[in-house]
Amino acid sequence: MKRATEREAEAKKNELLESVLKGQAMESYIEHRTSEMRHCALCDSIGYKRRPMKQVGKKWVCIDCWRQIRETLDNLDRWEEEMALKEEMERTIRKGLGGQGPDQK
Ligand SMILES: [Zn+2]
Repeated sequence: MKRATEREAEAKKNELLESVLKGQAMESYIEHRTSEMRHCALCDSIGYKRRPMKQVGKKWVCIDCWRQIRETLDNLDRWEEEMALKEEMERTIRKGLGGQGPDQK
């Protein structure tokens, strides 16, 4: 009879110990995750291991932003052409308005 209660107490102690250990494991797990946590310098999103990020200097940039950067770089020629076209148009407009605008070099 006494043995049963002892065993019960032992079991309860183990259970308690286990839950404490689980709690600690959880805490250290969360800490571990937090140390893995990165803040994207561009879109401010938080990246874990599942959201790959690359470091640039001291900043981290997430994969989504890199994709956008790559897309921008891929279209850089077109972008530059558009800017050149816009400048050309502005120059033409300024000329049409009688030349010497204040911001003309
Ligand atoms: Zn980002």
